Amino acid sequence: MTIAQKTPHPDHQMPDIDAASRGLYIDGAWRPSHSGQVIDVVDPSSGERLASVPDATIEDARLSIDAAAAAAPSWRATPPRRRSEVLRRCFELMIERSEMLATLISMENGKALRDARSEVAYAAEFFRWNAEEAVRITGEFGIAPAGANRIIVDYQPIGICLLITPWNFPAAMATRKIAPALAAGCTVILKPASETPLTAYALAAIYEEAGVPPGVVNVLTTTTPGPVTAEVLADPRVRKLSFTGSTGVGRLLLAQAAQHVVSCSMELGGNAPFLVFDDADLEASLDGAMIAKMRNAGEACTAANRFYVQSGIYDAFATGLSKRMAALKIGAGVDGATECGPMITRKAVEKIGRLVEDSKMKGARVLCGGEAPEGPGFFYPPTVLVDVPTTSEMAHEEIFGPVAPLYRFNTEEEAISRANDTEYGLAAYVYTRDLARGLRVSTQIEAGMIALNRGLVSDPAAPFGGVKQSGLGREGGQHHGIAEFMEAKYIATSF
Ligand code: NAP
Repeated sequence: MTIAQKTPHPDHQMPDIDAASRGLYIDGAWRPSHSGQVIDVVDPSSGERLASVPDATIEDARLSIDAAAAAAPSWRATPPRRRSEVLRRCFELMIERSEMLATLISMENGKALRDARSEVAYAAEFFRWNAEEAVRITGEFGIAPAGANRIIVDYQPIGICLLITPWNFPAAMATRKIAPALAAGCTVILKPASETPLTAYALAAIYEEAGVPPGVVNVLTTTTPGPVTAEVLADPRVRKLSFTGSTGVGRLLLAQAAQHVVSCSMELGGNAPFLVFDDADLEASLDGAMIAKMRNAGEACTAANRFYVQSGIYDAFATGLSKRMAALKIGAGVDGATECGPMITRKAVEKIGRLVEDSKMKGARVLCGGEAPEGPGFFYPPTVLVDVPTTSEMAHEEIFGPVAPLYRFNTEEEAISRANDTEYGLAAYVYTRDLARGLRVSTQIEAGMIALNRGLVSDPAAPFGGVKQSGLGREGGQHHGIAEFMEAKYIATSF
């Protein structure tokens, strides 16, 4: 495997790393942390330090709660039209700066520039979509069935929100929460992942420029997320936790939030099945498989994690997929030609390697890839495994990397039951030319989102979220995403 040299794409705007690492963003000001300590941000394509950001403490957390609380009354009283215009401006500025933001994402996350550009467009769209939602928050009015009174339902901002996001989509996971929260009239504290804080800070500067008032959005980075977020959740002024990350951390946070009965939205891990029936269009299913598996080099919660392929098409699908996977260009994300960037950390590469070795030991055959190269950088090659036993650890664990394990099935019932054999239920993919079968299978698969003859589900206009241990609540969609940041208030009255 050869790894391409890092040659920055010629037409990108260089991000200002110093500006993006100038401090915690609290109450509209850039501040050092109380600890005076910093977190190093590492370039995953080289393993070298890229920048440092402050390491916030409990005192910084308290400051950010005070700032969010002070800003709350005037932001919730700001006319929806004005809030909408500010959100719209955030969208416009993100689009204007999209090349700079995409480069920054590639630098700190490692993803290929083409994936980073898609992420910026997706992330910005949450501002445009929620700018439109902000002016369409309507209540309800009705007559009680007994006729004694009227029922008025008013939707009000839920209060101060703690938002916690992962490293795999540093822009989109933040804007998918911030935009609906602000549209609903809430103020927020964002705790981005320690590996990718620069994008969160670069976006904070954009919100400020767009007219988001001080204290409405606060951003904290910390190496002690447990104590810092516990402090925030223990404050009675904080009424919402919206978390995206692993199911393990999600469980911990749900338990913490239970102490103060804080409303929770949880976007957690996935173990997406990708079903290919004999009657599928082979080329279309391969196109879809490449997107579902290789967007973000497999570091996506929606990534296809288990390929169930019917016996009649299995060999052709395996050959076609390994040909496409082996042809991908590996390199630093910022190189415009890269199609598969590095993984986020060395630990991530080691985990992928462990899963692949385990399945090989249990009888899987490697069609391409299957071995991590020496450094520098945290690379793992696109890999296709066939004859993967169901006892393999990767059948039950998120791979979170560019590895496609293929499992053979014979009947529709078998495919559905194996697809559902997981504690997760985020996304699933189904390829068949028989629409009736496609819809029948889609309704029986236990997942929050199904891509039927498509390799991609994410869309700000559609409700994103999982069932089972993949989460609680939805983000995006018509009313779904914004509803997570509002409470219904019912007023009974007669006249
Ligand atoms: P993670 O380890 O759960 O971390 C997510 C966030 O939680 C980070 O900001 C992390 O901070 C913070 N965190 C860690 N421990 C914490 C604690 N004890 N208390 C409070 N916060 C804590 O997940 P990740 O590795 O960053 O992201 C990958 C996971 O996210 C995968 O499982 C993926 O499926 C999931 N994901 C889900 C969705 C979805 O929409 N369902 C989308 C994207 C990703 P530090 O970075 O400082 O540790």
